[in-house]
Amino acid sequence: MRQVPLFIGGEFTPSQSEHWIDVTNPANNEVIAQVPSATEAEMTQAIDAAAEAFKSWKEVPVSERARLMLRYQALLKGHHDELGEILSQETGKTFEDAKGDVWRGIEVVEHAANVASLMMGETVENVGRGIDTYSYIQPLGVCAGITPFNFPAMIPLWMFPMAIACGNTFVLKPSEQDPLTPTRLAELFVEAGAPKGVLQVVHGGKDQVDRLLSDPAIKAISFVGSVPVGRYIYETGTRNMKRVQSFAGAKNHMVVMPDADKDQVINALVGASVGAAGQRCMAISVAVFVGEAQQWIPELKEAMSKVRPGCWNDKEASYGPVISAKAKARIEQLIARGEEQGAKLELDGRGCQVEGMPNGNWVGPTLFSGVKADMDIYKEEIFGPVLNCMEAENLEQAIALINANPYGNGCSIFTNSGGAARRFQHEIEVGQVGINIPIPVPLPFFSFTGWKGSFYGDQHAYGKQAVRFYTETKTVTSRWFSSEPVTGPNFSINLK
Ligand code: NAD
Repeated sequence: MRQVPLFIGGEFTPSQSEHWIDVTNPANNEVIAQVPSATEAEMTQAIDAAAEAFKSWKEVPVSERARLMLRYQALLKGHHDELGEILSQETGKTFEDAKGDVWRGIEVVEHAANVASLMMGETVENVGRGIDTYSYIQPLGVCAGITPFNFPAMIPLWMFPMAIACGNTFVLKPSEQDPLTPTRLAELFVEAGAPKGVLQVVHGGKDQVDRLLSDPAIKAISFVGSVPVGRYIYETGTRNMKRVQSFAGAKNHMVVMPDADKDQVINALVGASVGAAGQRCMAISVAVFVGEAQQWIPELKEAMSKVRPGCWNDKEASYGPVISAKAKARIEQLIARGEEQGAKLELDGRGCQVEGMPNGNWVGPTLFSGVKADMDIYKEEIFGPVLNCMEAENLEQAIALINANPYGNGCSIFTNSGGAARRFQHEIEVGQVGINIPIPVPLPFFSFTGWKGSFYGDQHAYGKQAVRFYTETKTVTSRWFSSEPVTGPNFSINLK
């Protein structure tokens, strides 16, 4: 059985742990590898290696750090198919979707290669007579990242390339459910020329995360995952005086105005709700039909009923299995609860089978109509291929519904009215808004800006905000004496 190594101080080493976790292929639940829960001593080694490497890495010129990212980006592109295949096998994603996961990470590495211009400070000459003020952006030290199962390439790549390009060193703790992709990312980082100790990859679960949260050497923690863990990470990390950015769960709505293009709406809803088996933090899980647009639900049902899951290399499959048998059971329980609580189950994805793969975690496309805000299927993040349809009399009601929801990751409106779109983008209390775009994930020169219960912290992932998150600003006020007459002591706070 393949045992996933730790990556510490530039070496891939087998763990001495007595606790190993099975990594399964979600399409058949066969065990494909085992991942260790790193021991206390291994966690210490990883953090110490990062702290030691920081002493020299922070002195490496910014253009050299940028060149490492350029080489890394080229290698990731060169290994795009291979990474997609590894990722497909441990997540169940279709090959095309797995390559998309890798690609959106590559884009962040490209952005990290621009680090010199992103790290420029500010200057003002003559803030006082003969006195100048300027600021430098400096790295923090050792940073750590804790990532979820659903994007094992993109989300680690949101974190360590930006942090390392800024001059920090990094300890990554990827999801124990799909550690093979992050391991390959680390191997390629070495091949790109990353010095020893700049990146470590450790494995495990809560104990290992708690170690990162409590170690004083770690200055900043980036987390992406579910709401309860996200809150815990934010509360614990900040209590331990760390800088924390914590991206959590979501419930994303798409408002459908009656003047929208019906075919575009239906395609967008099908792809954005069941794509990646609904396991995207930006998946559309609620469609809000305004007025007469609700008449399109039968056509939506018809379109969704034609979609089917399948194995990663099945070119006809629209999406893959959900990550685990446990996740499947939870989704099926929520579907049952939706029915019990009075929603109309238009399409039932329970009991879905895929030919030749009887043990996979399959869930078929599932559609509810008549969903109300007090039902569990609305209140909880289902994280499966399930779409809830709700109704609103007008745009105002639709906006009020979304603004009352505790999450604020993404939302979208489909309309042909500029006025409706403008009102929606202005009034909606959600951090990422799509106009006739169902999944508005910003490219890395912007930031990934979830709001409310979908994000705890101040500075978001990638873009300029990531540079702020992973750095400190130092402001220097300077005067060089030339031929000024010497005056007496200055007893005021003013610069003279
Ligand atoms: P998860 O919270 O179960 O796990 C995330 C990470 O936290 C993993 O590395 C895991 O090992 C660790 N972890 C789990 N339990 C822990 C605990 N008790 N204490 C400390 N660490 C713990 O999340 P998941 O199921 O892997 O990922 C899916 C979730 O991630 C969904 O809720 C999804 O919305 C969210 N997500 C959010 C975003 C975003 O940008 N907002 C992006 C992707 C995923």
